[in-house]
Amino acid sequence: MIRKAILTVGMCLVSSIAIAALVAPTGGGGVSGSDFKDHLTPAQRTAIQQKLQFNRKLLRERGISLYSESTAAQTSHPMFTWPTESTTNDPGHFGISNFVDHDPAYPDSLQDYQCGERTYDTDSGYNHKGMDVFSWPYPWLKMDHDEVRIIAAEPGIIIGKDDDNFDRNCSFTGRWNAVYVEHADGSVAWYGHLKKNSLTSKLVGQSVQAGEFLGVMGSSGQSTGPHLHLEVYDSGNALIDPSEGACNALDAGSWWSNQRPYYEPGINLVATHDAVPEMNNGCGVTETPSFQTIFTGGQTAYFALYLRDQRAGQQLKMKIYQPDNTIWREWSFTMNSTDHYSASWWYWTRTLPAQPQAGRWRWQVEFQGQTVDSEFTFPVPDISVSGSGAFGDVEIDSSSSKNISISNVGTTNLLFNSVGGLSAPFSIISNNCGASLAAGTSCTVSVSFSPTSTATSTDTLVISTNDPDEGTVNVSVSGTGTAIGDTLFGDGFED
Ligand SMILES: [Zn+2]
Repeated sequence: MIRKAILTVGMCLVSSIAIAALVAPTGGGGVSGSDFKDHLTPAQRTAIQQKLQFNRKLLRERGISLYSESTAAQTSHPMFTWPTESTTNDPGHFGISNFVDHDPAYPDSLQDYQCGERTYDTDSGYNHKGMDVFSWPYPWLKMDHDEVRIIAAEPGIIIGKDDDNFDRNCSFTGRWNAVYVEHADGSVAWYGHLKKNSLTSKLVGQSVQAGEFLGVMGSSGQSTGPHLHLEVYDSGNALIDPSEGACNALDAGSWWSNQRPYYEPGINLVATHDAVPEMNNGCGVTETPSFQTIFTGGQTAYFALYLRDQRAGQQLKMKIYQPDNTIWREWSFTMNSTDHYSASWWYWTRTLPAQPQAGRWRWQVEFQGQTVDSEFTFPVPDISVSGSGAFGDVEIDSSSSKNISISNVGTTNLLFNSVGGLSAPFSIISNNCGASLAAGTSCTVSVSFSPTSTATSTDTLVISTNDPDEGTVNVSVSGTGTAIGDTLFGDGFED
């Protein structure tokens, strides 16, 4: 495993030299597991255990239980499905910050199921008893919008619910909101730190299916940020770590139907912003992402990416594509400052072109075999010209005029560089367009034809603007001078 990681780093370095310059981020940083962790006091844990034992006994007396001493079900442990989901298909509904601590010594004596140290203990002797799943980025914002749902990992009977507790904690204080589910084999899963008053309306004694909603991810009780604490006990009330690994002696075999890798590097979000994303407005305070997908030419944009399980040596490749699919900017970055971040974010500022291509731009990030795009656009002016410059026959020594209408059918101001190019016998007699034409408005240029001879004349009215794909519009003008009297009753006179 280690050898493979080193090989990957080597390959990335070679390709980065060939493809794109390494550019350090303008800002960002990493989050370690300690930013999303929790605690129950021994008294709280004992109280929960006593309540659950009481409820289980009561439910069994009433015949409400999936568990039966006489069935084989009890020998077959659960096979959990993943306990979080997003209402918006956002991959940011999970990252893992901490596993069960299998080392009973404390403090700072840590061992997770894979013999690593992605867990914690406390000075007072608490060894983390569950798995912490956090949302990233903007966990408070996600919580505000009920975006991350905690769902049952295994069918069962609800044997306990705790609710009504404050849910925006960032320290070890208070009591949590939780749902407790007993499975067919008598094992029990605790789903903790839920958002206040978000819990399933199902009552103690009612059954839930795998994948069924239990509550919204929150930070109630002794919690340092919004996350799920999943704690599991077997039918004999012994702690279980559902993840199979060399240092998990609590059970044999994985309790996951599809156990996630120990490290699962991934892109949680790729986004563009018009200011530095504010990741921390204080405990429990909604973050200020400053998301922006519409920019103006010349503006400074913030190109950000948000990862889970980023490890030293893993290369990021960044590209900004113009609407015609050519690359406008390209660079790479390899984080080497820390071995592992449970969650991280990095951003780069770029000054956008003053005259950007119209259409959809793409901010693209490639990380560990995954490629994610985020689109952005510029408001563009769009010129539309109507009216004819064909004057036909006009009596010499008289004058005829025609109106050319200019409209801005785009989404931002159309700026005029020049309107002209005519010479006698053509001229502009009025122009109310000014220097700038607001989106959705029109103006008029009046052109006159004043022939002095019986000749056919042609010319071109040239309209030059900041329209990105039609910067110059040519309007042909033409007319023929006729002898006096020739058109007295003809069409030309009517002009
Ligand atoms: Zn926990």
